[in-house]
Amino acid sequence: MVKVATRGKTAAATRSQKSTATEIFITLRIVMNAKSTKNPLILGIESSCDDTSAAVLRGRRLLSNVIASQQVHVKYGGVIPELASRAHQQNIVPVVDAALREAGIGMGELDAIAFTRGPGLLGSLLVGVSFAKGLSLAHGVPLVEVNHLEGHILSHFIETSGDEDHPDFPFLCLLVSGGHSQIVLVRSPLDMEIIGTTIDDAAGEAFDKCAKILGLPYPGGPHIDRLAQGGNSHAFDFAQPRVGGFDYSFSGLKTSFLYTVRDMSPGFVADHLADLCASLQRAIVETLLYKLIRAAKELGVSEIAAAGGVSANSGLRDALVAEGARRGWRVYLPPLRFTTDNAAMIAAAGLFAFEAGRRSTLDAVPVTRLAK
Ligand code: ADP
Ligand code: MG
Repeated sequence: MVKVATRGKTAAATRSQKSTATEIFITLRIVMNAKSTKNPLILGIESSCDDTSAAVLRGRRLLSNVIASQQVHVKYGGVIPELASRAHQQNIVPVVDAALREAGIGMGELDAIAFTRGPGLLGSLLVGVSFAKGLSLAHGVPLVEVNHLEGHILSHFIETSGDEDHPDFPFLCLLVSGGHSQIVLVRSPLDMEIIGTTIDDAAGEAFDKCAKILGLPYPGGPHIDRLAQGGNSHAFDFAQPRVGGFDYSFSGLKTSFLYTVRDMSPGFVADHLADLCASLQRAIVETLLYKLIRAAKELGVSEIAAAGGVSANSGLRDALVAEGARRGWRVYLPPLRFTTDNAAMIAAAGLFAFEAGRRSTLDAVPVTRLAK
């Protein structure tokens, strides 16, 4: 007994000595490589769902943003986690390589590697997190972990031309993606509070599930948006559930949509496709705006931003601009290419964390859900 315990202790001690030695080695390399630049060079790596992406920022200025969107899921009508993870493994090396090449930056020049730690699919996150750690270890570059959702919000601070208008703090961000629908009070890049969130489906999920009911390809959001342009948004009135506080619920809307379509004669969908899309889009947009308006009023905030994949929706963008004009808001809409998942936003969030002195260690593990 004693012998086993002693041997166990010795093995553990050796392991801990080894890991301490590794940490010292990395710290030394990081110190040796440390640069005192005003505009740090950040490599961002994003792999939370089905887009493999890498980007390089110099300060807030975007040097490259490479995205490999996985097509393998289209025929299944949704993301298959195992296939997503395998596709990330295939894509990650060429995508990171392309981002560095396009930026004209060598690994040794980087000040930090920012990676998405979560939330997302475990197998997908693992690829990006492990790859970031490997690069950090090999090149002695510090690691900075990023919350994917904060990345979406901080996409507003990416500069491409240099004359972009950024939201002033505090601002409210309507964060609407395939997996999340939230109203976030953003006091600073490192101080955010979720004041409302969906209690069931996300807005993007509502778009995608209803699109599936209509027989449209995945992801359905952009198809609904396109078809809605030729339809009457008041042709149908779908349920718009209102839950407490600033929270959202979209599952009732989805059911109401399903029942409307299911109870109709064959050919109904084809004959009313544009009207169905336009009416669904109106219901989602009105639901989103209703709580956002209340939150802005109650908190006295008039800087309003949108972020996430659904913020690409033309109906939502138009409604935000119109509401802004009516209520004296300053409205910030992200450029379309920063709405869906991308590593530029991860690098931007990483930049703020890096400048605040935050660092991650090789112990960092992916988290599928994050409290904030
Ligand atoms: P996640 O981070 O949750 O994977 P993304 O931020 O990548 O989500 O956004 C993907 C979601 O955005 C999908 O649900 C997609 O249907 C939706 N989406 C993208 N473009 C549009 C659009 N024009 N209109 C409505 N939804 C859209
Ligand atoms: Mg996203």
